[in-house]
Amino acid sequence: MYSGECDVKKAEELEKHLFSKYRFLRRFVITKTHLNRRVVSYTLGRGGLLLAGAFHGAERITAMMLYKFLDEVCECMDNDADFYNAVVKTGLSVVPMVNPDGVEISCNGVHTAGKNSEFVSECLVKSGLSYKKWQANAKGVDINHNFNAGYSEVKRKERELGIIAPSVTRFGGEYAESERETKALCELCRDNNYKVVAALHSQGREIYYDYGNNTPSVSRTLADKMAELSGYTVSHPEGVAVGGGFKDWFIETYSRPAFTIEVGKGENPLSPDEFGSEYPLVSKMLFHLLKYTINNCI
Ligand SMILES: [Zn+2]
Repeated sequence: MYSGECDVKKAEELEKHLFSKYRFLRRFVITKTHLNRRVVSYTLGRGGLLLAGAFHGAERITAMMLYKFLDEVCECMDNDADFYNAVVKTGLSVVPMVNPDGVEISCNGVHTAGKNSEFVSECLVKSGLSYKKWQANAKGVDINHNFNAGYSEVKRKERELGIIAPSVTRFGGEYAESERETKALCELCRDNNYKVVAALHSQGREIYYDYGNNTPSVSRTLADKMAELSGYTVSHPEGVAVGGGFKDWFIETYSRPAFTIEVGKGENPLSPDEFGSEYPLVSKMLFHLLKYTINNCI
């Protein structure tokens, strides 16, 4: 089940697999993309911990990880009534694939961009990159530069780097939350009172936990523990990677813990063969966040 590339078709198969096993799992379509693909949130209870992945097309291995993690959590719930009650009381939401249009372009090629194919092609020609490197959504906006955290500074750094138009990667859009995917994730947070969030990206085996003055002190403790469990390194983003991201926005808005976890090591897109060895490390970190949320945030 958990092998091969995680494109939209695979995500739908994984969803079917989960619904065939667990009757208590709920699904919400939080938005449809520019190309009419669903962005789905799977929920157990309400609020609590939010996990999201595949913000970037070439990082779809993170979606597979989140489906598998959800499967593991549900299985534990099935086998342990106390754990079931704890999760439902605390809340867990998982959005495995924030950017399905970008995933399709990077995984299956330019034609999957439909009405935007010509535009996507032009962006690729301008950048001299293969479709496999596509990170943005189908409109050429990098969703993880489109959140409202230090946004004007993000735009200034983009211009410095000569990124002034929609592109394969790193163009933050015309204004914060201009993209449906960004807005949907923010609305989800506004509606659900999440206590902790984590965004999965690839690659680097790194954990980012801070942004500005609103970072709670427990964030460093949690990041250190996750590093200890996984062998990953606790790091600080630099340059154009500072600001505009989901974790940045969550910390700035709610003053609660938020993390970016860069899974795996190598060149994006990571080979699906990396999944088997990397997933257990990621699972340990996510279970730690879930247990922390259960124990501290009801
Ligand atoms: Zn990323």
